[in-house]
Amino acid sequence: MTITELQEKYKKTEPVTNLTDDQLKEEILRLKKEKNAVILAHYYQEWKIQEIADYVGDSLGLSQQAAKTEADVIVFAGVHFMAETAKILSPQKKVLLPDLDAGCSLADSCPADAFQKFKDAHPGHVVVSYVNCTAEIKALSDIICTSSNAKKIIDSIPQETPIIFAPDVNLGRYLKKVTGRDLVLWDGACIVHDSFSLDKIKSLQEQHPQAKILAHPECSHAILEIADYVDSTAKMLDYSQKDATSTYIVVTEEGILHQMRKASPEKLFLPAPLVTYTECACGECPYMRLNTLEKLYLCLLREEPAIDLDEDLRLKALAPIQRMLELS
Ligand code: SF4
Repeated sequence: MTITELQEKYKKTEPVTNLTDDQLKEEILRLKKEKNAVILAHYYQEWKIQEIADYVGDSLGLSQQAAKTEADVIVFAGVHFMAETAKILSPQKKVLLPDLDAGCSLADSCPADAFQKFKDAHPGHVVVSYVNCTAEIKALSDIICTSSNAKKIIDSIPQETPIIFAPDVNLGRYLKKVTGRDLVLWDGACIVHDSFSLDKIKSLQEQHPQAKILAHPECSHAILEIADYVDSTAKMLDYSQKDATSTYIVVTEEGILHQMRKASPEKLFLPAPLVTYTECACGECPYMRLNTLEKLYLCLLREEPAIDLDEDLRLKALAPIQRMLELS
């Protein structure tokens, strides 16, 4: 399925309550207090959800928050593998995901049975998996990483040890370049980051010659080659605040622009166009955008959908995540 077809399939659903956004916010805050809940939101969520969250961050920050929160309920405004990671880290807590269909094309690109065969074909390799994968893949891994700490994690592995990196091939190629290691790569990709258009980004830069290009390492090699700065969303946000440039072309999911504009209102942030660009850039992840303020309210009210995990699988998936958190 193309990104346009996915965006069409998952386009906003009709509201099922008569509540306005202000009423939804009021109810969410009331329920949150009543149930001792915390709302963790990814930078790729719509701005209304980011504004009501207790913590907004990237995968590393969200995992750290999930591991240390004292709340009884975690509402995870993100996609399934993120809520699953929170459940792996906090099994005693109820972890809610506003829409269970909020999956991830990257996680889907690495099925466990095929990955087991790939692993068997490369004996003696340490398996480093990007956090954007299922609990089954985590359980088959030695250590997990995020885009914030991937280089550090790979650098921590002895030089003579061969490494498999999964599931994102673009991030893997980028890591080969920055670590100088010969990684064996699984061929998976994110449909959003893989759909940004090199030509359209170049023509946008021609219209804004002073603009710097900030890109996420899940983007294709050709885009990373022309980027002025490549790193995780959290580090892109930090860079945009400290750097003296006034205009940026941001090559990642559009949700991060909300935090960038909030932190640096005097600067211009332009979303990078996708290959399917027509009237708007539309660099929105169709899965992330399944979550809405209304679904967040309903899941907190009903305490469902909740993430459930087999304990044996949870324990196997926990060990490589803990290794990452210790190194971070
Ligand atoms: S942006 Fe890509 S990697 Fe992130 S949740 Fe969406 S499909 Fe998955």
